[in-house]
Amino acid sequence: MAEREAAGELTNLPTETRVWPIQNYLEYFQKSIRDIEAFWSQIGHELVWNRLWDQVLEWKPPFARWFVGGLVNASYNAVDRHMSTWRKNKAAYLWEGEAGDRRTVTYGELFREVNRFAAGLRKLGVKQGDRIALYMPMIPELPIAMLASSRIGAIFTVVFSGFSVGALASRIQDSEARVVVTADLGFRRGKSINLKEIVDEAVQTTPSVEHVVVFRRAGGEIPMRQGRDIWWQDLVKDASNFVAPEPLEANHPLYILYTSGTTGRPKGAVHSTGGYLTYVYATQKWVFDVKDEDVYWCTADIGWVTGHSYIVFGPLMHGVTSVMYEGVLDYPAPDHWWQIVERYGVTVLYTTPTAIRTLMKFGDELPRQHDLSSFRLLGTVGEPINPAAWEWYYRVIGQERCPIVDTWWQTETGGILISPAPNLGLPLLKPGSATYPLPGIDADVLNEAGATTAPGEKGYLVIRKPWPGMFMTLYKDPDRYRQVYWEKFPGLYYAGDYAVRDRDGYFWLLGRADEVLKVAGHRLGTIEIEDALVSHPAVAEAAVAGRPDTIKGEAIVAFVTLRQGHNSSSALVEALKQHVRKEIGPIATPEEIHFVSSLPKTRSGKIMRRVVKAVASNRDIGDITTLEDEASVEEVKQAFSEFKSA
Ligand code: ATP
Ligand code: MG
Repeated sequence: MAEREAAGELTNLPTETRVWPIQNYLEYFQKSIRDIEAFWSQIGHELVWNRLWDQVLEWKPPFARWFVGGLVNASYNAVDRHMSTWRKNKAAYLWEGEAGDRRTVTYGELFREVNRFAAGLRKLGVKQGDRIALYMPMIPELPIAMLASSRIGAIFTVVFSGFSVGALASRIQDSEARVVVTADLGFRRGKSINLKEIVDEAVQTTPSVEHVVVFRRAGGEIPMRQGRDIWWQDLVKDASNFVAPEPLEANHPLYILYTSGTTGRPKGAVHSTGGYLTYVYATQKWVFDVKDEDVYWCTADIGWVTGHSYIVFGPLMHGVTSVMYEGVLDYPAPDHWWQIVERYGVTVLYTTPTAIRTLMKFGDELPRQHDLSSFRLLGTVGEPINPAAWEWYYRVIGQERCPIVDTWWQTETGGILISPAPNLGLPLLKPGSATYPLPGIDADVLNEAGATTAPGEKGYLVIRKPWPGMFMTLYKDPDRYRQVYWEKFPGLYYAGDYAVRDRDGYFWLLGRADEVLKVAGHRLGTIEIEDALVSHPAVAEAAVAGRPDTIKGEAIVAFVTLRQGHNSSSALVEALKQHVRKEIGPIATPEEIHFVSSLPKTRSGKIMRRVVKAVASNRDIGDITTLEDEASVEEVKQAFSEFKSA
């Protein structure tokens, strides 16, 4: 792009990525949202289609259909398209197991295994439109199963392998899957988990399931039910090496994925094929600026949307080499991630604020002991990143060389919506801001009455026009789809998040709109208070909630975990209160501060403030099937009740 070349001398960040004058970006952006159909049509052409579409967009609010009449196949675009190129023997995945085992899977191998498993699924009678549930550890067979499913037009639903029987069963029931694919073994912190046993229990309550396919990792015998259960290895033994990819209408569902349940009962987001792939393809390029020589590592679990879009479809469509790691971040050692980075020369890292805060807790020494000079770009997703964590990521991990892309998006949006876009030119970064919406994304911040807020004024984040990555509906529940996302501001997508735009037009995401406290007539985001707490050197993480208070409306209750080398004391409680008072103001001073060793989080690492809030206000804690660690809830309860009886 000529404009980018010309912009080469403008550098406001020390990075290899050039800074595009933001004016140019904004012009490009304005053009994109003026005519979204022309814009997305052009990008849609970068995919391989069996037949081009008749109509770019059919918009019958709140239902959008993109690339109507176009025929496309996801596995073809992710794998087959590389078979006639030099990438055929390029690594698609550099895989590491928690136990230290390693595997390299090339695009050619991926192609063969996807075809064989697709043939296997056909043998089991799986047809276009059937649902299959994937309850698998982070091994290459998980993307293989997703791609095989998409090859024959089946609809997959990935269930995070850390979920227990109840969470698995409810997702199979809701999706009415005919086949469940699992493995005999998964690992978590050195403990082996018999996944098949969990499946056996779950399928007792799921009449739709006809077959259970089990990938064999261990040598031992496990009970297999005759006629229903089959080993993956046996299924593919004599399978054909080629299954023609089915040309599917662009709006054929590619997958169903249940949201993480931070705020309540999980919702089954249904994603399309053509629109979704187009969107993921574009954002993978804009945000991560991927190049053939990159070693790209998205640390998410494929059980979450981040893994679907940015471990599987995005990187594969671009022919990128990805690191795929089975384990958790601090096992077997707290510097395990940095060992992996050093071993493969990782250039792009995409992770979560919760991971960054955990790594921060271990101190600066560990990353300093490793060679992290291969990094060129760092990303985060999942929660607002507090400026303290952003600075640490930038300074210690990126060594002040690498831009940070703070990417805002949701399961429902299919891909990143608000983020810096290094491939299009970087704006000046501000720690804690996701900067600007990506091209084609008409984002706005509205007040309760539906008017655009003034700069600096908090409001609700909405998207005014549909985009191709947008989910099509909630599975079997179009009413809930309409009601949750489209009724608050009719015709606009309501994200459920609080945001503010500053005078430069930068977006700051302030957490969920329902996580707002009303203290003595003021509205305070829990995130603001948490940020203030975490900016104190003793604090690693914080969760803030309100409890009903007869005088103030709500009183602020904070639960915090401490960084290594700090201990709880009443002097520290006082110091933290003073600190918040100084950072935000007296109105934000927590009434109570409790120290705990861990906070209640979802399996995807997000703090479940609703649990904290329920404890603080003595209410039932509700659905916690997606909770990471029940002990943390007990600890929060205990800390709270000890305080009350003291
Ligand atoms: P549920 O909808 O079931 O309560 P969830 O919203 O946690 O679950 P996801 O779709 O995985 O499930 O998460 C999307 C949410 O994560 C966003 O709505 C937002 O609150 C938060 N989020 C994601 N990325 C960012 C970011 N970069 N900055 C701030 N918040 C973010
Ligand atoms: Mg959500």
